[in-house]
Amino acid sequence: MASRSIPLAALPFLCLCFAVPSIPTRRVLDYALKLKDLFRQDEKQWADVPHFAALCCGFPDGLIPCVKQVKDGSLTAAESVQQLLQWLKDYPESNFIWMWNPSDHQTKEHHPEAMLVRLAIEAHESSSWRGLQQGSLLLYSHKCPCQSCAQKIEKLQDVLAPALGPLTLCVGLPVRSHIFESLCGTSDRLVYQQLRKAGVRVLQLPLRHSWSPKRRAQFYRRQAAKRRRLKGGAFDVSDGAD
Ligand SMILES: [Zn+2]
Repeated sequence: MASRSIPLAALPFLCLCFAVPSIPTRRVLDYALKLKDLFRQDEKQWADVPHFAALCCGFPDGLIPCVKQVKDGSLTAAESVQQLLQWLKDYPESNFIWMWNPSDHQTKEHHPEAMLVRLAIEAHESSSWRGLQQGSLLLYSHKCPCQSCAQKIEKLQDVLAPALGPLTLCVGLPVRSHIFESLCGTSDRLVYQQLRKAGVRVLQLPLRHSWSPKRRAQFYRRQAAKRRRLKGGAFDVSDGAD
């Protein structure tokens, strides 16, 4: 029979998990909501927010440097990375880093979550981002990460959690319904399960914060129609969250 004892190497991490008080869900969601609204370029209540990801340290009251320095999303991945490296050089005390979907985002390595995670791990290893040392990390992803990005987020958790505590991921919008799990082999639900298994705390903003009542009703109608089509043998794997 396999031993169920905890490896000694895991003890510091487990102790840290128990030592770090969990931030109440309500507070995390309120914080993520304000963060999302800061990145809304249009002042209208239901204006779409372009896909972006932001990694914040310590749930700060104010973001340093000011979020007004955020540029538009027309850069390529390489240009975005250069901009972020310059950001960390100019503001090593920064308590957040962020990234829009670059103009060449089709490559999974260029997804904003993937690029942020890579840069955060590099900054941690080179100690070039002092603000990161505050811990209590929140990764906001405006759309549910794909499976490839989720694997990278797992790595971020593995690398940073022993020193900085567990990671919280808050997602703004759904992307892949569980309706098509059997066809696509992935879904938001499976991504959330994968990340929670790795120790990441995963939350999603209620849709009422991002979409108008009309758009929410349309989304649920489409979901129901897809469910019916799937039952009838016809299917369309595109989802209604775009
Ligand atoms: Zn991705």
